[in-house]
Amino acid sequence: MDERAKTRVTLPRENPTPSYWQDPPDDIADQRTTKDLPSHVDIIIIGSGITGAAIAWNLLKDVRPGEKGSRNIVMLEARQACSGATGRNGGHTKAASYRSFLEHASLLGTPAAVQIARLEYDNIQAIHAFAKEHNIPCDSNPCHTIDIIYDQAQWTAAHEAVAAMKVAFPEGDPVAEYTFHSPAEVQSKFHCALDAGTIAGEPQTLYGGVSYPAGSISSYAFTTGLLKLCLSRGLNLQTNTPATSLMKNRDERTWTVRTPRGNIWTKDIILATNGYTAAIAPTFQGVIVPLRGQVTAQRPGSNLSEKGCLPTTYSFIYDKGYEYMIPRPKGSRNEGDLVIGGGLVRAKEEGLGEYGTTDDTTVNEEISTYLKNTLTRYFGGGGGGGGDRNGNWGDDHPDGRIKKEWTGIMGYSPDGFPMVGAVPGENGFWMSCSFQGHGMVLCWMCATALVEMMEGRDNEELRGWFPEAFRVGFERMRKRFQGRLHTSVAVPPGPAVGGGSG
Ligand SMILES: Cc1cc2nc3c(=O)[nH]c(=O)nc-3n(C[C@H](O)[C@H](O)[C@H](O)COP(=O)(O)OP(=O)(O)OC[C@H]3O[C@@H](n4cnc5c(N)ncnc54)[C@H](O)[C@@H]3O)c2cc1C
Repeated sequence: MDERAKTRVTLPRENPTPSYWQDPPDDIADQRTTKDLPSHVDIIIIGSGITGAAIAWNLLKDVRPGEKGSRNIVMLEARQACSGATGRNGGHTKAASYRSFLEHASLLGTPAAVQIARLEYDNIQAIHAFAKEHNIPCDSNPCHTIDIIYDQAQWTAAHEAVAAMKVAFPEGDPVAEYTFHSPAEVQSKFHCALDAGTIAGEPQTLYGGVSYPAGSISSYAFTTGLLKLCLSRGLNLQTNTPATSLMKNRDERTWTVRTPRGNIWTKDIILATNGYTAAIAPTFQGVIVPLRGQVTAQRPGSNLSEKGCLPTTYSFIYDKGYEYMIPRPKGSRNEGDLVIGGGLVRAKEEGLGEYGTTDDTTVNEEISTYLKNTLTRYFGGGGGGGGDRNGNWGDDHPDGRIKKEWTGIMGYSPDGFPMVGAVPGENGFWMSCSFQGHGMVLCWMCATALVEMMEGRDNEELRGWFPEAFRVGFERMRKRFQGRLHTSVAVPPGPAVGGGSG
């Protein structure tokens, strides 16, 4: 792993695998608000994923639509708009805070663990509420989720963590709302097979399930919708324009950003570059490490289709990893399709080769084979190729099971926390990066916090809800990866062992 973390991070690659969500690409995919780049601006945001878009929104939200604010803001995007992790993720708005709560509590203290869990919950609520308020057509679907657990240790840990959260949060607080389900209930209510087969000769024993509030969304549609709100308030979006280097000007206070289309002078730079950060900010080499995740969109088997759209989202958790699955909600395009990602540890050397790479132009064939065959195991019944037709899966759709398959690049920090704030030792240099596989649960609130800091409101109120552990600082920048990624934060919220978000 240490060697993989040293792999030189590159700019986003050309011709990435198109994701399910980008089919078809949004009409702003190749937007260039002005034909040429401006020579001088106030702020440059690098990256047009949910982080860049949410930062732009926070900077522009007081501007009336159709008007232009007092600051010139340019957003540079290396490829098409929202073509990084946000445009290629699983769309799970799921905190699974109980999976990291105890480790956060032992590392940072219970109040900080409570703060992080609350931020995650608030982030999910804020995204779905924003989509509703602004009528963004993104299949926003707040719903419950179920974690199906196939490992004794994980099952025991879940009970301990939920018990601790029930003590730490006031009674009835939705952040600590969890319900346990027996294997029989998992089968009857959530249609999973009691017998999940074997993996490499190991039987996958079903211990039970944990359900709680979560949701799903098309992160791509949400973010392109958000970008359009920013464009109507004066944002200058320049797609297919990578920032290739950042130069501090002689005054030590302003910057020049180089691109293949010319240079731009600016007072403030904001990195919203997530897994690609080290390509233009080399101090982050080995500090924010890319990890490739893989997702498929599949048609449910005939028996599952008969049950209508599955009302909850799912994670399937086993000893070293997990998968996560989002049924496309009722009324959405392709309703009922199952978007399932993960499978990282099923690849050679438990997916080691996926760390450090920025190559989202291909898929990992081992993960691919595993993901294509795993749903029939979880739901029971083969279908298509002559499996047990009586299982909950049934026969495959005549057009086949796999509709789309793609990869995307996440950004991991050694301690598993985002890096947000002013880059220490610099003027006018800001960042909000490194969201593990958990960005739909973190990016919105981190973007809000960053703009509070930029606008001089880094005060008690902000410290009341924004975790100290998420701030970028010299000490965190000196940490390097040793051994595997930080798993407790990443399972299943992040994908250290899954390859996306649980
Ligand atoms: C396969 C996969 C599945 C996932 N599933 C989930 C999920 O279900 N739920 C969840 O919560 N999270 C999930 N995640 C994680 C989540 O998608 C990310 O944490 C989140 O999208 C990060 O958003 P961002 O805007 O910070 O980064 P990104 O969306 O990666 O955006 C960064 C942008 O910066 C651009 N860029 C980078 N460098 C430059 C440069 N030098 N010049 C110009 N532009 C540049 C990139 O092209 C990119 O568009 C998943 C991630 C992946 C890859």
